[in-house]
Amino acid sequence: PSRIFSGIKPTGHLTLGNYLGALRRWAREDQYAAESLFCVVDLHALTVEHDPARVRRLSRQAAGLLLAAGLDPEVCTVFVQSHVDEHARLSYLLECVASDGEMRRMIQYKEKSARAQRGGQGVRLSLLTYPVLMAADILAYRATEVPVGEDQAQHVELTRDLAVRFNQRYGHVFAVPKATLPAVAARVMDLQDPATKMGKSHDATAGIVYLLDEPEAVARKVRRAVTDSEPGVSYDREARPGVANLLEILATCTGKEPEVLAASYEGIGALKADTAEAVVELLRPVRERHAEISADPSYVDGVLRAGAARARELARPTVDAAYAAIGLLPPA
Ligand code: ATP
Ligand code: MG
Repeated sequence: PSRIFSGIKPTGHLTLGNYLGALRRWAREDQYAAESLFCVVDLHALTVEHDPARVRRLSRQAAGLLLAAGLDPEVCTVFVQSHVDEHARLSYLLECVASDGEMRRMIQYKEKSARAQRGGQGVRLSLLTYPVLMAADILAYRATEVPVGEDQAQHVELTRDLAVRFNQRYGHVFAVPKATLPAVAARVMDLQDPATKMGKSHDATAGIVYLLDEPEAVARKVRRAVTDSEPGVSYDREARPGVANLLEILATCTGKEPEVLAASYEGIGALKADTAEAVVELLRPVRERHAEISADPSYVDGVLRAGAARARELARPTVDAAYAAIGLLPPA
């Protein structure tokens, strides 16, 4: 890849799903593979009911967790979306190449708008247009790879479509990106409801492991995971989603295949105990480093300031080129 971009929304405390689907790979592989940018996409957090002070707090916390997970500001660019105006500028142009029907087909829009309505809240227009802003996040940097969890694959697909369409209509401005998904645990499920993706903005927290949970809480949540009443352990995502979820989580911690792990357990109890221990050990260093990092908020702020400057430098020429290509008169 020549450039990598990915982001995370400050809509809640980061989860094990965010870590396994995204952060861990960003830190271990992606940042070393190419020029790469990792963004706290705060504008996206405004698409659903939000508390201003909480979004601000979660934004700094998310940035601290990216660093705690191992992103090295000497190696990659870590920044906050709203610090770089180019995202919003480009988003409007992309709204002019996207269609209303395309937006309404997005699975996340259907899910999140239904949830907002169930909660008695209106559906914000920005929830509908959110994938266009996400496309702008990616295309502004001419990113070629977008490391995300499976739930974001459809949005990256849309981003490709918009890039191709824009390039065909107005001339070649954007690189056409592709999503890269983790081999296992691309979709970590809620431990209490294995039919639902673990999501940091969800209200029911008993089935969600947060990166900053105390080790005892992590272990308890894993040990109490909902599975099924079949005897023994086998790996079958369709028929046994709860057990499969544990096997995949353990697989990412141990580097073994879920099928191989399944064959090595006789009962669910032992699988849960080992998975609980593995997740506690997986998250321990992240939690410890986060405590060190957040002791000095000015460190995180400095990283974000430098990151935004670098991001602006990269995005500006591409977004200016898009403005010119689409027919806007350049300022004299
Ligand atoms: P929200 O509930 O607000 O949508 P989220 O937990 O889904 O929050 P996002 O900010 O939407 O988190 O996504 C950040 C990254 O984490 C994306 O790459 C996404 O694909 C990934 N991700 C989110 N949840 C999971 C999950 N359960 N399993 C694997 N990857 C996930
Ligand atoms: Mg999400």
